[in-house]
Amino acid sequence: MKLWLGPAGTPIDSKSSLSAITDLAGLGLNAMELQFTYGVKMGIETARRIGELAKQGGIRLSIHAPYYINLLQQDKAKLNRSLSNIYESAKRADLLGAKVVVFHPGAYMKMQKGAAMEQMISVCEEASKNVSVPLGLELTGKQGQFGNIDEIVAVCKAVKGCVPVVDFAHDYARNAGHIDYDSIFKKLNTLKLKEHHFHFSGINFSVREDGLGNERNHEPISVNKPPFKPLAEKILKEKIDSAIICESPLLDRDSLAMKRIFREIGYGF
Ligand SMILES: [Zn+2]
Repeated sequence: MKLWLGPAGTPIDSKSSLSAITDLAGLGLNAMELQFTYGVKMGIETARRIGELAKQGGIRLSIHAPYYINLLQQDKAKLNRSLSNIYESAKRADLLGAKVVVFHPGAYMKMQKGAAMEQMISVCEEASKNVSVPLGLELTGKQGQFGNIDEIVAVCKAVKGCVPVVDFAHDYARNAGHIDYDSIFKKLNTLKLKEHHFHFSGINFSVREDGLGNERNHEPISVNKPPFKPLAEKILKEKIDSAIICESPLLDRDSLAMKRIFREIGYGF
């Protein structure tokens, strides 16, 4: 099996997305998720050049699409803007050779969960027909957002071209400080995926009156909330190729901390 480790965004000391590729190889990392957080601004030519460098350097690229995507939008014009953010991200993904375009599926607002699921599936079906790269639905960290593990798996089961992106910190926050790695993998395995794309970091959360949680902010992995080592052990046991994108504020440094943990438990890099 193969593991890819790297930061969400460029390494802390990198000057640009282009130089980040060489920096990553120097650090001993092999993945990076480009952050199109506030809009798809990367030019076509830049995307092509980064893609070539990444290919030469053996760096696995992915894209995080803009934050304001909401596929549960009722307003047609706003929904189309969300879709065009996905399409613009996917166009860059083609040029970059990126493996997945990750996005936050949406917020329920006043929608019932059943209706939300129906709309999510039909909009994802439409979106995936228009792109050639897998669309990654991220497991989100707030109760008001679509995207717990069951919802993500259900959409990916229904729509060819959609893949789950489990953010373990978000799952931990949703469950107010609990995580069951075995149960998550059991659900993922019903999809028979050839590879996994994950997000990991520590996380801070608030607890609601009903005992469920909402994410506050991502933290370094040293806070051990959730713990990384049991996840690393689970990933090795599952033997499915996996990319783990580090969303801690320590980015590449915490990616290297994860790499050390994998080494400790016997995975050779
Ligand atoms: Zn995200």
